[in-house]
Parts: sequence; C-alpha cells; structure tokens
Amino acid sequence: MTTDCLFCKIVAGDIPADIIYQDEHVIAFRDISPQAPTHILIVPRKHIATINDLESTDQLLAGHLLLTAQKLAREQGIDQSGFRLVMNCNQEGGQTVYHIHMHLMGGRQLTVLG
Ligand code: AMP
Ligand code: ZN
Repeated sequence: MTTDCLFCKIVAGDIPADIIYQDEHVIAFRDISPQAPTHILIVPRKHIATINDLESTDQLLAGHLLLTAQKLAREQGIDQSGFRLVMNCNQEGGQTVYHIHMHLMGGRQLTVLG
C-alpha cells in the first residue's frame, strides 16, 4: 500500500466507498462524482500509479480489469444499451488519482469524447 494514495486507502478499508464488487485482484466502487447514472471505478488492489507503469507481469491483471467491467456492465443492466470504459493517464489525459482505475459509465446517451 502506498500511504498517501486515496485508492490504496479505499482498498485497505481506511476510507469508505460504495463498494459493489471485490475479489482477490480488484475492487469496484461508485464514483463519488458520477458523470452518468452508472459510474463505477474498477481498481486493482495493487498500487500502480499510471498506465505507463504497467509491466508485462501485470498482463493478467490488466485483462481482469476489462473482464470485470464486462461483468459489472451486465449486472448493472447496461450491457445491451451500451456503456463506455475510460482510463486516463497523466495530466493531459485528465488523470487526478494516481492509482490506475477503469471508469465504467452508462445509463444515458454518452457524447463524443472531449
Ligand atoms: P481520474 O480523473 O480518471 O483520475 O478519475 C478519478 C475519479 O475518482 C474521479 O471521477 C473522481 O470523481 C473519483 N473519486 C475521487 N475521490 C473519490 C472517492 N473518495 N470515492 C470514489 N470516487 C472518488
Ligand atoms: Zn494506490
């Protein structure tokens, strides 16, 4: 755990979150500032600061994020209507929390990316 990392603190249970799924490798919780009716963050338990820091040994974990998003989209009932997955990297990518996470957004018509 990286002590000054918000998502490490949520993983550790030190900061509360609306957790909707967790397993050995990832947790998923509702975004505190939702941009869509369904807005969930899928977060590896392991601290990885940015996509740039992923290593080849993280291959299964990276795939697990995607498959978890697929499963949660189905469970949230947005798999057929449609949804968007986003991972931001560094400042110009809009990253604000430096522990990688996948946004799962859906439940409304999403518009073109900014
Ligand atoms: P990003 O800008 O891609 O790094 O995404 C960070 C996301 O974390 C933003 O959508 C925030 O609304 C969300 N966020 C920040 N703090 C919390 C928190 N305590 N619990 C849940 N989501 C949070
Ligand atoms: Zn962290």
